[in-house]
Amino acid sequence: MAEVTLHEVSKRYGATVALDRVSLTIADGAFVVLLGPTGAGKTTTLRLISGLEAPDGGDILIGGRSVLRDTPAQRDVAMVFQQYSLYPHMSVRDNLAFPLRSPVLRTPEDEIARKVREVAEVLRIEGKLDNKATALSGGEMQRVSIGRALVRDPQLFLMDEPLSSLDAKLRADLRVELKRIHATLGATLLYVTHDQIEAMTMATEIGVLDQGRLVQFGTPREVYESP
Ligand code: ADP
Ligand code: ADP
Repeated sequence: MAEVTLHEVSKRYGATVALDRVSLTIADGAFVVLLGPTGAGKTTTLRLISGLEAPDGGDILIGGRSVLRDTPAQRDVAMVFQQYSLYPHMSVRDNLAFPLRSPVLRTPEDEIARKVREVAEVLRIEGKLDNKATALSGGEMQRVSIGRALVRDPQLFLMDEPLSSLDAKLRADLRVELKRIHATLGATLLYVTHDQIEAMTMATEIGVLDQGRLVQFGTPREVYESP
């Protein structure tokens, strides 16, 4: 169960209030898109859920349990960022395998090979596994970045504008792909963007943040039909 609940969560940076008592529930298996202008608090929300930052007030629960005392590794959350976080000198295969080769996980090599093949198939990059990461197109690199999150089978995906550096055609392709991945894996996704088309086409619910406050939350229909 990867239901996520924020209860009256606040975060300040010096005099800046990044989040102001935000309460929000993301259902298990939902694809929630957080929309809002620059500075609204979207990235801060992801960093608090993943454990990269601690809130000043409020509580964060994953699967009904407070995670504020848990390290990022204990939260079983995968983050995908706008910029590709690939190792350029490694092959696509080794980039995908890297998260599984951590000394903590001790995943057997045959299990790693199986998982890498499976994820490459989902992302349709099977033919590129032996290429160097630097030899890929932007869209392929972003697929590999998403793949590095997928291999660990996390209960929760946090994505911060993962498509914003891509051209319109690739963005459209990957929107379809992300929807398909969500449907296939049944995973819970929290996805930050300022792109309304991404929100409308992918979200089960949209949350609109403005100046650190959650000003709207509902299905795309509810959000776009309200005055
Ligand atoms: P910009 O249009 O430059 O991206 P805005 O401040 O107008 O910046 O809004 C940022 C995003 O949040 C936009 O995608 C906008 O559609 C969305 N947004 C803001 N308020 C609402 C609202 N009430 N309902 C739906 N979407 C909203
Ligand atoms: P968004 O992702 O919606 O653009 P952010 O969550 O990045 O918004 O930022 C929310 C507010 O917090 C902004 O005013 C931003 O300048 C501020 N902020 C974010 N991170 C830091 C930081 N590390 N230090 C100081 N201020 C920050």
